[in-house]
This record gives sequence, structure tokens and C-alpha cells, in this order.
Amino acid sequence: MADPSAADASAADAFMADARALKERIRAAARAAGFDQVGFAPAAPPTHADVYEAWLANGYHGEMAYMAREDAVRRRLDPREALPGCRTLVVVSLLYGPTPAGATALDRRSVDGGDSAPHRRLPVVARYALGRDYHDVFEERLDALSAAIENLAPGARTKRYVDYGPVLERDHAQRAGLGWIGRNTMLLHPDLGSYFMLGELLTDLEIEPDPPFVHDRCGTCRRCIDACPTDAILDGRVLDARLCISYLTIELRGSIPEALRPAIGNRVFGCDICQEVCPWNSDAPVPAEAPFAPRSGQPVPPENMVAWAEELAPLDADEFRARYRGTAFSRPGRDGLLRNLAIGLGNAGGAGARPILERLRADPSPLVREHARWALGVLQGYVGPSEQNAES
Ligand code: SF4
Ligand code: SF4
Repeated sequence: MADPSAADASAADAFMADARALKERIRAAARAAGFDQVGFAPAAPPTHADVYEAWLANGYHGEMAYMAREDAVRRRLDPREALPGCRTLVVVSLLYGPTPAGATALDRRSVDGGDSAPHRRLPVVARYALGRDYHDVFEERLDALSAAIENLAPGARTKRYVDYGPVLERDHAQRAGLGWIGRNTMLLHPDLGSYFMLGELLTDLEIEPDPPFVHDRCGTCRRCIDACPTDAILDGRVLDARLCISYLTIELRGSIPEALRPAIGNRVFGCDICQEVCPWNSDAPVPAEAPFAPRSGQPVPPENMVAWAEELAPLDADEFRARYRGTAFSRPGRDGLLRNLAIGLGNAGGAGARPILERLRADPSPLVREHARWALGVLQGYVGPSEQNAES
């Protein structure tokens, strides 16, 4: 007579083998969809939930009120709130890499934009933004991965997220083995650096998690903290977003605090400094594919702030949206970008800055007018409070 316990063990072995095979098929499908890293994390509350709650309580999220909404917080603190029955997070990344060979002058700008006058007048743009909006690229690829999972495991439910979603993605990425959270609060991998973006597919499939990345490879280094021009990186791997140039130039809708404007320099969209100085990025690989490469006909920012401001000034909001649809620049919008360019022009000065700032001083947008007045004041060497605040 057959031993029932042996039969049970054999069935369990077969189940485990099937589960492992499914996991590796999903991993292969993620790679086929174009992702560079793939890891599996349990759908459990994030390890750093307390850090996140303290971050919100301190108001470090600034005007990103969507992050502090009660329902969003609840879902960030437990992926099962975002997808009922969720058991696993498939965490994926796309490398956009350091400056590729053959890049344009715009791509090649050094960390501070350089000291020479032409370099100071270049609009410095975060590397990920010089092409298609990465959200669109992730969404397409996560949809392909979702379809593949549906084929492999009919009936499985999935839900995708790219950093707008209620998921503490770096926390989950660390748990999925993709890297560690550095002092600059970015996810870092010893072979890949930090020039990559993350996305997640939540699923109700039970998949064995990958081993977490447990090592902290920052050691005694503090380069990112020392290099940050606005002292936005606090001890304890906490970012005060209200001080961060990425937040100020992309997320903030209103006026940029005057005390921070000089430190922004010519960074008119985002900031890569705390990644540029990181030693783990010095040998970061250039990816074989440029995942966020511009589509044909997509606008590429001119290599001069004056030219970019002249291009944007005549556009109204609808014309801007039509022109910049599908790019990261649509996030701050026309007025936000012109606000940033006015600051950059005030900081850089040089030929052509004053005429375009005079034009922006009469712009339909009060936000743009105020920043243009500030910049003209900087160019004059003094700006008095009454002049800054007076409407023209
Ligand atoms: S992105 Fe720039 S401003 Fe923000 S923390 Fe990093 S170095 Fe500082
Ligand atoms: S610059 Fe240094 S401290 Fe900052 S993230 Fe990189 S290794 Fe860590």
C-alpha cells in the first residue's frame, strides 16, 4: 500500500517546482518586456513605514498633498489596500544610464553646468527627462508584462504602478533585491549605480520572494549630502522635498522661495547632483537601449535658456500641452518652465537674457512675471522688496 505521507511530499515537491517555474517564466517575461532588473517582494507593509510617516508629519512632502491623503497613505503602507488579495510585488527597473557616447551637448553638461559662459546658459535638465515621459514607457511595458502573466496564469489579477502610485517603491525594490537605499534616498545597485527608474506590478499570485538586498554600501561616504546645493538631504536618509531642486522645479506649482533661487543655478528641470557625485555611478553602465529616447518629432530643449524661453513665451497653455505632450516637461507646464527659465536666466545672465526677461515681465502669467522681475533685479545687482512684489 502506498505511503500517503510520501504522496503528499511528492505533490508538495511538484507544486514547488511549478511555482518556481512560473516565477522564472514571469522573470523572463519581464526581461522580454524590456526591463533591466526584475525582483519579487512580498506584499507586506513596507519596512520603512515609520520613516515615511515621520516624513509626512514633518511636512517634508511640501505641496505634494496627494502623498498625505489618508487613503493614499493607507495604500502606501500596505499594497493589499491598493490591490485586494495582493500577495506579491514584481518590481522592475529601467536603466537610463550615464551620458552615452555620441550624446548632444545638452546631455554632456557637467554636474554644475560648467563655469564657462556658454555652459552657464545651458538649461540643465535631469537626464531621465530628455526624451519620452518615463511613465508612458513603463506603462506600456508593464501592460505587456501583465498580459504575459495573464497568459502564464489565467485569472491572475495585476495592477501597475509607476512612481505616481501609492507604493513605497524603493522600500519594495530593496526587499526584492534590486539594491539599497542610499544616503541620497535613491536606490543604488553596486553594478548599476542609480540611473534607473522603478515600476511595480502588484499581483494576487503567490510567488516566492527574492532575497532582499541587505548590505548598506554607502559606508562613511557623505558626498551627496555635501554636494546638495540646497541642503535638502538630511541625516537618516531623509529628503526634505521642500528644499530639493527636483521638487521646486517640477512639482511645486507656485512661487519658488527667493532664498533658494540662487542655488538653483541653471537647473531648469530637476537635478542630478546627488547622483552625479555618487561613487557608485562612476562606472555605471550605459544601457544598450535608450528607453526614454525622444519620439520622432518630439521637441528637444534648445541648448540655450534664452532660445528656450523665446520658444515658450508665445505659447498659451493649450499650445504648450500639444507641443510637449508625452514629455516630462508637461508636468510643470508652460508657466512652471518659464518660471524656472527666468530663475536660470537671472542666475546666468549673459547676452540675450535681459530682453527675454523684459518680455516675460509682461507675460500673462503672474507667476512668470514675478520670477522675471526677480531675475531682472538680480541682473541689476539689487532687487528691492517693493519692486519684487509690485505687479506691473
Ligand atoms: S536632487 Fe539636487 S537638490 Fe535634490 S537632494 Fe539631490 S542634489 Fe539636492
Ligand atoms: S554619494 Fe555616498 S553617501 Fe551618497 S548615496 Fe552615494 S555612496 Fe551613499
